Amino acid sequence: MYSSATVKVAAVGGLAVGLFGLLIYSRYSPLLGVYVGVLGGLVSFALLRSGSIQRLRKALVIYYAVITWVGTLTIFSFVGFTSLLKWIGGHLRVYYYSGMPTVGRALVPCNFNLPSVTVSIPIWGTEMGMETIAGIPVVWPSSIFYFSILVLAPYLATTIVLGRGFCGWVCYFGGTVDAFRRDGNPVWSLSRFRKRYIEPGKTDMVVDGLREDVKDIKYGVAFALLLLGASLAIPIICVVCWTWLLQYIWWGIIALLAFGLFVVVLPFLTGKRIWCAVLCPVGALINLLERVTPFNIRIDLGKCTKDYSCTAVCPMFAMTRQTINEMYAPNIDCIKCGACIEHCPEKAIDLYLAGTSKKVRSWFIPIAISAGMAWYIWFILSIGQIAPRLLHL
Ligand code: SF4
Ligand code: SF4
Ligand code: SF4
Repeated sequence: MYSSATVKVAAVGGLAVGLFGLLIYSRYSPLLGVYVGVLGGLVSFALLRSGSIQRLRKALVIYYAVITWVGTLTIFSFVGFTSLLKWIGGHLRVYYYSGMPTVGRALVPCNFNLPSVTVSIPIWGTEMGMETIAGIPVVWPSSIFYFSILVLAPYLATTIVLGRGFCGWVCYFGGTVDAFRRDGNPVWSLSRFRKRYIEPGKTDMVVDGLREDVKDIKYGVAFALLLLGASLAIPIICVVCWTWLLQYIWWGIIALLAFGLFVVVLPFLTGKRIWCAVLCPVGALINLLERVTPFNIRIDLGKCTKDYSCTAVCPMFAMTRQTINEMYAPNIDCIKCGACIEHCPEKAIDLYLAGTSKKVRSWFIPIAISAGMAWYIWFILSIGQIAPRLLHL
């Protein structure tokens, strides 16, 4: 347990998140606005007040995962498999090679649409591929200007502010991994892939965090995908898009096997987020921004008794004996999940404003939950609007 915020601070944080949820969702439905606002406010209040945040945080990201997968399946069912394949067959050519307006893409979960939700404007589009934002017609995403404003800017803003905290608090795919990651003692400790370490003043070699060459695989994956995207003249996100997995069956089978192994089997056996720590190219790219983010986890060495029990609960191999001794902080893969903060018996770990001694858990949690609310609006509205029609309600 670690010290929780006062009732006043938790209430202010909860109220701010509640009002934000109300504001962005009531544009589409006042009832939905009240529901999301109240739910988001209560979750924020509970997270700030409680000394135990892991269960709620995990439930939150798993909730995002469920919303996203169910939303995607709902849209696929609505579109129908044949017309979906027809759309897939045409959209890359139409999108990127001839610059023609796209057809019907807005209904299908295009990865390009996802970041648009970071500004809380779900974009539905029309058959002619025209959308309006605040009354201004936008051709999406062929305009570099709007692509920059609606995709790059919100994405960069989210990841600059939260850093890898995006992975711990917002990413639905991280939530999917968390759904399969078992807590408690691991079945497999991955000792072959761990580094050996000798603590200062000792002679025994102990098993520590992941080896550097294993952790660095994700940078290689990101670089390879960037090269592939550049050589095919398509954005990197399209290389890992689900449309490719449906179009090119071998690519799909490889991705499915990697998904099964790194997202389901290994997290279950090891209790760690193996996909996120070893393979994810998005996590690798976010790491490039991590040094400029305002929120850092740090250890107060005056309080730390070096029992190293926090290393066992870290899902990312970010907190290790070596980082505790040499950096007084976790390594760059820390997703700011708070498991170590909550676990430390000496209350020696906390979330700080970078470069200061100010503890800022009460800022970080409301910002992270608000970002999650904004990111998933598109899927929540998709389910709300399409599911009743599918169910003939
Ligand atoms: S590492 Fe990748 S999959 Fe994991 S949470 Fe971060 S962005 Fe999502
Ligand atoms: S759990 Fe706390 S006291 Fe133990 S090593 Fe980690 S920071 Fe130090
Ligand atoms: S160091 Fe702590 S906050 Fe960071 S990922 Fe590990 S357990 Fe979570």
